Amino acid sequence: MAQIIDGKEVSQHIRGEVAKGVSQLVDRSGITPGLAAVLVGENPASEIYVRNKRKACTEAGIYSEEHKLPVETTEEELLSLVDNLNKDNNIHGILIQLPLPDHINETKVLRAVSPDKDVDGFHPCNVGLLVEGNPHFISCTPHGIIKMLEYYNIDIKGKEAVVVGRSNIVGKPVAMLLLHRHATVTLCHSRTRDLAEVTRRADILVAAIGRANFITADMVKDGAVVIDVGINRNEEGKLTGDVDFQAVQEKASFITPVPGGVGPMTISMLLWNTLESAKGT
Ligand code: NDP
Repeated sequence: MAQIIDGKEVSQHIRGEVAKGVSQLVDRSGITPGLAAVLVGENPASEIYVRNKRKACTEAGIYSEEHKLPVETTEEELLSLVDNLNKDNNIHGILIQLPLPDHINETKVLRAVSPDKDVDGFHPCNVGLLVEGNPHFISCTPHGIIKMLEYYNIDIKGKEAVVVGRSNIVGKPVAMLLLHRHATVTLCHSRTRDLAEVTRRADILVAAIGRANFITADMVKDGAVVIDVGINRNEEGKLTGDVDFQAVQEKASFITPVPGGVGPMTISMLLWNTLESAKGT
C-alpha cells in the first residue's frame, strides 16, 4: 500500500518558509513582496483560484492586488495595464489568469509581462533559462512536484521518469526539471504508441493529461512513485485526478491524492516565486 504524499502538509511547510522569508526581507530592506493578478471576464473557477491566492498572500505577508477587467476589454487596454504593472515598484509578480477571452492574443499578453516579474514562469526567457539548466522563475505546478519529491526524500537521480502530457505549463517543464535532476525521462502524449508499455517502465510516473482515472493499475510498475496532476470532475461532479487512485495505491510506493496532492502546491510555489522576485529587486 502506497504512502500518501500529503500536498497540504508540504504546502504548509513551504508557506511557512515563505512567511519567514517575507518577514526577514521586510526587516532587512523594508520591501514587502507584491503580487498582482489580472482577470479578464467572468470565470467562476478563476475567481475561486484568485480568491485563494489572495488569502494565501495575506497569510504569508505578501501584498496582493486584483485587476478584474470586463470581458469586452481590448488587447491594447490589457497590454497597457501589464505595462503599468511592469513599472510598478510595489509589484514583484504579475499573474495573468488564463484563459483570456478569444479576441485577446494570449501569447502576446504573456510575452508582455516582464521576465523579471513572470512568477508563473511562462515567458520564453524563463522557459529558455529552465531548458538551459539555469532557471530564474520555474512554473509553479512543476516546481511544486519537485518540492514534494524532495520533502519525501524520493531519489530522482538515475530513475526512469515517465511524464504523460506535454503541455507548456506542466508536462514539458516537469520533464525538464526531472532531467536536470538526472532522471532518464520519457515524455508521452496522445500519439505515443503502446502507452501502458512505456508507463510500466516508470519509477516515477507523472500524469498530466486531464482525463479522469486514465492511469489504471495495469499501467503502473510495482513500487512506482505516482504523481497525479489532473483535476477533473467525474459524473457525480466529484473532483478526481488522472489516476485510478483506489487501484493504483495498492501498487505504488508513493502516490498523490486528488484533491490534497499537487493542487495546493501550485499557489505555494507562486508565493515562493513572488518572494524570490522581491529579493532580487
Ligand atoms: P493540456 O490539455 O494542455 O495537455 C494534456 C496533455 O495530455 C497533452 O499533451 C495531450 O497530448 C495528453 N493526452 C491527452 N490525451 C491523451 C491520451 N489518450 N494518451 C496520452 N496522452 C494524452 O493539459 P494541462 O497540462 O494544462 O493539464 C493537465 C491536467 O492537469 C488537467 O487536468 C489540468 O486541470 C491539471 N492541472 C492541474 C494543476 C494543478 O495545480 N494541480 C495545474 C495545471 C493543470 P497531445 O499533446 O498529443 O494532445
